[in-house]
Amino acid sequence: MSETIFSKIIRKEIPADIVYEDDLALAFRDVHPQAPVHILIIPKKVIVSIASATAEDATLLGHLLLIVKKVAIQEGLENGYRVVINTGEDGGQTVFHLHLHLMGKRLMTWPPG
Ligand code: 5GP
Repeated sequence: MSETIFSKIIRKEIPADIVYEDDLALAFRDVHPQAPVHILIIPKKVIVSIASATAEDATLLGHLLLIVKKVAIQEGLENGYRVVINTGEDGGQTVFHLHLHLMGKRLMTWPPG
């Protein structure tokens, strides 16, 4: 599996504003926030995208969603939030290490761009 900048963040080789960490996952603030709260939740295991996840990853994927809930509470997003997983070129993915965007504290529009 090829590494991305997120592997360096996991290993603390480059700084990030980490808001949550456990043995399996890390959550940190996006360096180019698209909302007042914009956090990335990533597995420590390198999974390129949802498209390359397997049945073996099912528990880990569920774990990431529960971290979304935990961090959303931590960040005071009781009014709601958006969770986005950009996948592949057409999905707008730019970092090829699976990540969930958690965005809040502004009104989201639909459809997304
Ligand atoms: P994607 O476009 O792949 O869905 O999202 C990648 C996200 O990672 C972007 O929102 C981008 O701002 C963020 N990002 C890229 N490099 C870094 C970095 O070095 N540190 C942090 N905190 N975020 C990054």
